[in-house]
Amino acid sequence: MLDAEFFRRWLALTAAAVDREAARLTELDSAIGDADHGSNLQRGFAAVAAALEKEPPATPGAVLALAGRRLISTVGGASGPLYGTLLRRTGKELGDRAEVSREELAAALGAGVVAVAQLGGAQAGDKTMLDALLPAVDALGASFAEAAAAAESGAVATVPLQARKGRASYLGERSIGHQDPGATSAALLIGALAAAAGEGAAR
Ligand code: ADP
Ligand code: MG
Repeated sequence: MLDAEFFRRWLALTAAAVDREAARLTELDSAIGDADHGSNLQRGFAAVAAALEKEPPATPGAVLALAGRRLISTVGGASGPLYGTLLRRTGKELGDRAEVSREELAAALGAGVVAVAQLGGAQAGDKTMLDALLPAVDALGASFAEAAAAAESGAVATVPLQARKGRASYLGERSIGHQDPGATSAALLIGALAAAAGEGAAR
């Protein structure tokens, strides 16, 4: 079972992974966006990690709710409200349970991803973070490691796609041939989830 400590570990590992990969995320965003994705998420997840350390919430749902609020309030770009919504909605689905199973998390994360799709109006194949998150949610029913692998493949599979949402869509066909920054950071988030569960290397 996954307790509040597990969820705090997940977000701390995400903050570390985003920190480590910030330059790469910004480089990807400089190709098809405005070169701020790495710094946006670095600032956001550092604030999340600090808030969780200062006042560690007692339940998984409260950890995710706090993290989502911090992302929304600290990240200026499109990705802040989207990731914030993902975590808040997932946390809301988990309610006030002290521990949840992987299957319950998979269902809750599925609802979180639906909320992201509603907020951003994007769907699978639009070259966004959803292209990593949707396959990850599907695979999370099987295992954490498979979810991480599915998110990673989903991110890589955005390379040949043309962006239909967000800033990258302004480029039209010129967005083809580049990996989507948000799908790449989503793979870091799910990679950190697997790492928190002790499955797969920390990224
Ligand atoms: P901004 O585009 O405002 O500079 P970021 O650079 O932080 O914000 O984030 C860009 C990423 O956000 C994109 O690579 C994409 O994955 C994701 N994104 C942008 N718009 C949407 C949307 N409508 N739905 C889902 N994801 C989106
Ligand atoms: Mg950007």
